[in-house]
Amino acid sequence: ISSVELTTEFLKRIKQLNPQYNAFITVDDEKALAQARIADQKIATNKAIPLTGIPVAQKDIFCAKGWLTTCGSKMLSNFVSPYDACVIERFNQAGAVNIGKTNMDEFAMGSSNETSFYGPVRNPWDVAAVPGGSSGGSACAVAARMAPVATGTDTGGSIRQPAALCGISGIKPTYGTVSRYGMIAFASSLDQGGPMAKSAEDLALMLNVMTGFDARDSTSLQRETEDYMRNLEKPLSGLRIGLPKEYFAEGMSSDVEKAVEQALGEYRKLGAETLEVSLANSSLSIPVYYVLAPAEASSNLSRFDGVRYGHRAKAYENLGDMYRKSRAEGFGAEVKRRILIGTYVLSHGYYDAYYIKAQKLRRLIAEDFKRAFTHCDVIMGPTAPTVAFDIGEKSSDPIQMYLSDIYTSGASLAGLPGMSIPIGFGEKNRPVGLHIVGNYFAEARMLNVAHQYQ
Ligand code: GLN
Repeated sequence: ISSVELTTEFLKRIKQLNPQYNAFITVDDEKALAQARIADQKIATNKAIPLTGIPVAQKDIFCAKGWLTTCGSKMLSNFVSPYDACVIERFNQAGAVNIGKTNMDEFAMGSSNETSFYGPVRNPWDVAAVPGGSSGGSACAVAARMAPVATGTDTGGSIRQPAALCGISGIKPTYGTVSRYGMIAFASSLDQGGPMAKSAEDLALMLNVMTGFDARDSTSLQRETEDYMRNLEKPLSGLRIGLPKEYFAEGMSSDVEKAVEQALGEYRKLGAETLEVSLANSSLSIPVYYVLAPAEASSNLSRFDGVRYGHRAKAYENLGDMYRKSRAEGFGAEVKRRILIGTYVLSHGYYDAYYIKAQKLRRLIAEDFKRAFTHCDVIMGPTAPTVAFDIGEKSSDPIQMYLSDIYTSGASLAGLPGMSIPIGFGEKNRPVGLHIVGNYFAEARMLNVAHQYQ
């Protein structure tokens, strides 16, 4: 099958399904087919590498030259990017096809995809349910086979939680592994791009393209390139799986617990041993995250002032009024909430009590993981406390919504790699994900652990 044929099939499927699921914000047949034709030439001249000619759905947080890049916000609803993000550049170099830009929570703030200016995305397993967020469009696109693979970004759980809720796989690599250049910033010390796909093998292929040093991102890590496929077939005998006692204590719903127990049983059959570890400060990760992420967001989002790009109010009296009105009109309620929280915790008089305190606790959370990894190779637990909830169920209660990331935000704060793999179904036949956290740069081992299960 040629890339043009493959691309045409996926475009057809998007046309058919997207009106119902709302997973894509922008699809451009012309652009996609042009890339597919170039890929077919590469294939014909033996210049293909594994992703050449493969359609990739790109989260609308990645700037792509000539493409509308909205970040799910009215603020950027008119922004056509003049340049490519590093991630986009690398997929282009690999000869992959950009099949479209996926819907997401506004500026990646959310766990349900309901904060998008472009409307909610639906979970393909049950259209009454959310797909998770913020990379919900990408998760939906892969789960409904509107694209074979997709990109996501994860600040506190946004690759892993939607992957879990949509029954697919997703990995957030070690912080600094995937360049943030051209990836619209939410909380820079946490943001990390990563792949979302059906299988661990596909994730490995994607990581081979996405990772690597980039001088344009000041936190990009200079490391030798690795082949993420290299460990997939390794047997799991002797693998030590740490189970944080804090995760299995309370909060998890019984259907999720059952699926996780069953998956752990499978791992024992594969030769792994499970042991208890402790992440004593894990209950602090949500409060710490919701001080630090908004603090960084309030600073990052100050660039959207209506002057250089993005939405500008039509009527205003003077410069200050133009800023105020443009921002008031351009940002949605959740983004405003984060800017207010962030500005508050950074303000003179509260900075020590909130921001500095949260930074100290962030270190303690990271040290818990460090200690745990002296006893085990990977840590496992549920990705999310419940299966996908209904659209509208949590949208008026931010605290409930924030708790969606109770198991994922710890690894984000520590900068550790985390992934979610599908392990079955819970209540209402909605998917359950298993969360696997590895030590720094243990992605290849984690993919091995995931691949052996599947
Ligand atoms: N749900 C979390 C939030 O709203 C995490 C989002 C993300 O990882 N981008 O901030």
